[in-house]
Amino acid sequence: MKAFVLDAPGKFRVTDVPMPPSPDPDEVLLKIRVVGMCGSDLSTFSGRNPLVTYPRIPGHEIAAVVAEAGRDVPEEFQPGTAVTMLPYFSCGACAACRHGRHNACKNNQTLGVQRDGALTEFLVAPWTKLKKAPGLPLRTLAMVEPLTVGNHAVMRGRITAGDTVLVVGCGMVGLGAVAGAAFRGARVIAMDMDNAKLELARRTGAQHLLDARSESAADTLRELTAGDGPDVVIEAVGTPATFRMAVEAVAFAGRVVYIGYAKEPVSYETKLFVQKELDILGSRNATAADFDEVIAMLQSGRFPVEDAISLIIPIEEAGEALQRWSANPASMRKIMVEFASGS
Ligand SMILES: [Zn+2]
Ligand SMILES: [Zn+2]
Repeated sequence: MKAFVLDAPGKFRVTDVPMPPSPDPDEVLLKIRVVGMCGSDLSTFSGRNPLVTYPRIPGHEIAAVVAEAGRDVPEEFQPGTAVTMLPYFSCGACAACRHGRHNACKNNQTLGVQRDGALTEFLVAPWTKLKKAPGLPLRTLAMVEPLTVGNHAVMRGRITAGDTVLVVGCGMVGLGAVAGAAFRGARVIAMDMDNAKLELARRTGAQHLLDARSESAADTLRELTAGDGPDVVIEAVGTPATFRMAVEAVAFAGRVVYIGYAKEPVSYETKLFVQKELDILGSRNATAADFDEVIAMLQSGRFPVEDAISLIIPIEEAGEALQRWSANPASMRKIMVEFASGS
């Protein structure tokens, strides 16, 4: 079968690899149909993710069809079923796992990062990782996983219909947060420095847009929240300035959820933590419940899937597309690799 293999950062080939072994009783053989590529695949491509070893087959945003089901796989995942899957594998033994927080596993392995991913014709997976999404086309199915990461921040922030939520950063992760918060009925304010991203956030459910480049952004935010600040701030950028801004802007007794990774230390006015009695939360990966919520959101037709896709290509063009993307990271949003429908 065909696979896209990274031999080293920037060094790729589309090659023949052996078919995976037959599925175990609790596994399925998946025929891959669409794989989305995101910023983390770009990091893998350019060697900026220290967790990646090479050679590596990337890809963790999956739309597939069950080709073969092991003996213990339930009826709902029998051959012919279209599915997406959770790409995370937890150890089951660390403190996070023992508390049922498998998404934050200390020894987590993600498809395409610590183990080979989905840019290949077939993949064997445990049926417990599968999610069905009746009515969703394949490209939309491949959009589920990238949106779950932002949705998990919505879950962590316990967002409800009464909340005003500021989402800082409207890349795919931030968009998932905008979509998830809007789907729960919250009032969403989206902030970014890029007009196209803000426009997409509007179509995703943000009622108000804030241009982060504007000197009056902080004033506008105060006006929009009657001087209080938002109940919840979701930070999806990962810079010291946005990390600090989140605790400064949030309302008293508010929640701050960080999804971004700041690459350098951040200095805080820590009295704000106490004075405001903030809940300061991290958000990592996503859970099965996030998949269910994002699938319901997508089934409601609220997310502009086609607008979020920059490029749809066959596997033979994946390497060149990643090359162009890494040369100009702002040029693309979501790249999808589509496999021919024949067998
Ligand atoms: Zn991704
Ligand atoms: Zn674990």
